[in-house]
Amino acid sequence: MQSGRIDVEIVEVSARDGLQSEDVILDTATKVELIERAVAAGVSRIEVASFVNPRRVPQMADGEAVVAGLPSRRGVTYIGLVLNERGFERAAAAGVREVNVVAVATDTFGQRNQGVTRDESIAVFERVAALAQRASVRTTVTVSVAFGCPYEGEVPAAQVVTVAARLAAAGAAEIALADTIGVAVPTDVVERVGAVRAAVGDVPLRCHFHNTRNTGLANAYAAVDAGVRTLDASLGGIGGCPFAPNATGNIPTEDLAYMLERMGVATGLDLDALAAVVPWLEDKLGKRVPGLLSKAGPFPRPAA
Ligand code: ZN
Repeated sequence: MQSGRIDVEIVEVSARDGLQSEDVILDTATKVELIERAVAAGVSRIEVASFVNPRRVPQMADGEAVVAGLPSRRGVTYIGLVLNERGFERAAAAGVREVNVVAVATDTFGQRNQGVTRDESIAVFERVAALAQRASVRTTVTVSVAFGCPYEGEVPAAQVVTVAARLAAAGAAEIALADTIGVAVPTDVVERVGAVRAAVGDVPLRCHFHNTRNTGLANAYAAVDAGVRTLDASLGGIGGCPFAPNATGNIPTEDLAYMLERMGVATGLDLDALAAVVPWLEDKLGKRVPGLLSKAGPFPRPAA
């Protein structure tokens, strides 16, 4: 594991966003091993499970068991995704110390994904944040479809800003802008990051990109250039969203880390160790994954 400075923190989401939309349901021990391998490669913040209705997302039905299987490590944060108070109670009871709540930028996506309107999703966040504060659990929030909606199409930037400002006022420790369906381009990122930052003050921003139209890494670059210091990514680029039609994977962690490290932007991640997880993951999923670094190899090293 590397140590020292980290300029951009990569939050690993393969065990949650990644696996929730894969056909193969990995057993608990394999999920724990995936998380352990990511941590061994230097990941210090990782979404490990979602505490949602197991009938809707059967891939995530074992959230409690996954968390129970993880050793507690100093400096490593395990994150549970929750959609409501019941999910929060489950995550907190499982011992999760950080929860990520999902708010939505459009009513239609909210109703299809989690049965709430935009305003209702903000109200849910307010209630969960209050519970979490009493339980000393850190509460972050992701704004879904912040760059475009599969049902409503264009999402005005002002609408995203309004949602983010209300979430900041409700106590969000961090706000993520999610391109849930992978439609964003770098100019969108610059525009929305700038507009949201102006509205939320000191609340740190995170970005969550899907590579559905191959703009994911370009968007990540734009986000970093715009001052975002935390990005979500998924080993191998696995993932999607079961309720976002044709959404494909997150940006691949190892490809993002390669780009940033070659730019001189420290991630704290070990590229070789990250790349080595990918063939193992492909074996467990029974398919090839989109990430490229594990196939192309690292930057050439001179022969000894
Ligand atoms: Zn996602």
